[in-house]
Amino acid sequence: MPATHVAVVGAGLAGLAAALELKRNGFRVTLLERSRLLGGKATSFQLGDLEMDSGQHAILGCYTSFLELAGELGMRGDLRLQERFDVLMLTPHGRARLRALRLPAPLHLALPFLTFRALAFRARLQVVRALVAARRPHPGEDSETFAAWLRRHGQSAPALRGFWEPFLIPALNAPFDRVSAASGLMVVRTALLGDRDAARIGYATVPLARFAERAAERCDEVRLRTAVTGLRVEDGRLRGLRTGELELDCDAAVLAVPPERLLRIAGAEALRVTGLEAFTTQPIVDVHLWYRPAAVGVTGHDPLADLDFAAMVDSPVQWVFAKGPGHLCCSLSSADDLVLQPEERLVALADSELRARLPELVGAVLLRGVAIRDPEATFVPAPGLRRPGPSTAIENAVLAGCWTDTGWPATMEGAVRSGRVAARTLIASLAARHE
Ligand SMILES: Cc1cc2nc3c(=O)[nH]c(=O)nc-3n(C[C@H](O)[C@H](O)[C@H](O)COP(=O)(O)OP(=O)(O)OC[C@H]3O[C@@H](n4cnc5c(N)ncnc54)[C@H](O)[C@@H]3O)c2cc1C
Repeated sequence: MPATHVAVVGAGLAGLAAALELKRNGFRVTLLERSRLLGGKATSFQLGDLEMDSGQHAILGCYTSFLELAGELGMRGDLRLQERFDVLMLTPHGRARLRALRLPAPLHLALPFLTFRALAFRARLQVVRALVAARRPHPGEDSETFAAWLRRHGQSAPALRGFWEPFLIPALNAPFDRVSAASGLMVVRTALLGDRDAARIGYATVPLARFAERAAERCDEVRLRTAVTGLRVEDGRLRGLRTGELELDCDAAVLAVPPERLLRIAGAEALRVTGLEAFTTQPIVDVHLWYRPAAVGVTGHDPLADLDFAAMVDSPVQWVFAKGPGHLCCSLSSADDLVLQPEERLVALADSELRARLPELVGAVLLRGVAIRDPEATFVPAPGLRRPGPSTAIENAVLAGCWTDTGWPATMEGAVRSGRVAARTLIASLAARHE
């Protein structure tokens, strides 16, 4: 008997994770992707002779599903993950370090936090009190904003600037008054208050697209530059997909596209998924800077060589990552007011922010600057936002995507989890029909 044929629409991490799960369970999988690139938001592209990621992506120790996926692809070695949480903070007054101890959670972070120099003692106490309160879930979390929750828990401007903003703005990619307390607290509970490995930070050491390409190799067929434009539904079941003039017959589908695309493909009525119009997005800007540090010419030693990554306190640049000799990538999350700025201005801004915090750049020559903008980088986990689960009114069509109801903000982890759950839901529904 031929294997059941499932079409996976969207080659982001959600679609790819679904495809892998389906392949593991003996299905025939066709992957359909509108772009010429694999990986969706987590991809890479050629810029002259450089291969650039669509955005600097950080991973955390609590990304269990993403780490498993990398392992399954034989690419765990292409991720660098800290042995323990260790963050250099570049503040306007100097450097501070927050480094976990080899103790059980939460002592591993609680003890070093007591001497965390990026915050004055008063602000440290405020943060500790809020972290203790965060451990207890409360019923209004979904409807309250994270900003209101922080206010209710006595967080002063220095506590916000020195702790909450550098860690939580990049994780949520939205201002705190736009996101639900539930999403902020989810990150706090999972990463900061999770087990002692959860908050460890890491990143890919190969271009991100390699993960997607390796996953796509496992599919039976991959069609790039193929936008799905509609569903063929007969007697309440999905029979095929329309891609412009053509149709693809299939026995089932995973629709792993963002909400606004889903609306265009299916309309809300067919799937009976409500609330898709309520999703909004926020931009991310990355600015890549290439320097020739002054000391390189004099001593041959690159002073930037010791920098791996760092958080920037009280700056529109939240994180800076060292990408190679003299090459730094600044990540500007929740960049609503910056995304439309001309490239020269973004480069000048990032350059002056870095020079103000990194003495290593004294006398360094800026050789080149490139800004990469994504105006719709991630969805906003707004208060009251209803995120649908994988099931739809059409039994053999399921949804996946980091925006579905995983509980995670827009992350690679959320995408992989959603893809796996969607595939398992579909497999169970197909199996139930044959019983
Ligand atoms: C700049 C930037 C920085 C980020 N940083 C981090 C980070 O540090 N850590 C982290 O964990 N996450 C980060 N993220 C978020 C993360 O990349 C995403 O949450 C995740 O990759 C989304 O995966 P997805 O599969 O749900 O959606 P997507 O990646 O959006 O995939 C959807 C796919 O569907 C395709 N598609 C759309 N319409 C159609 C159609 N009609 N037919 C066929 N295909 C279609 C799209 O082209 C796309 O490939 C970042 C994102 C951006 C943009």
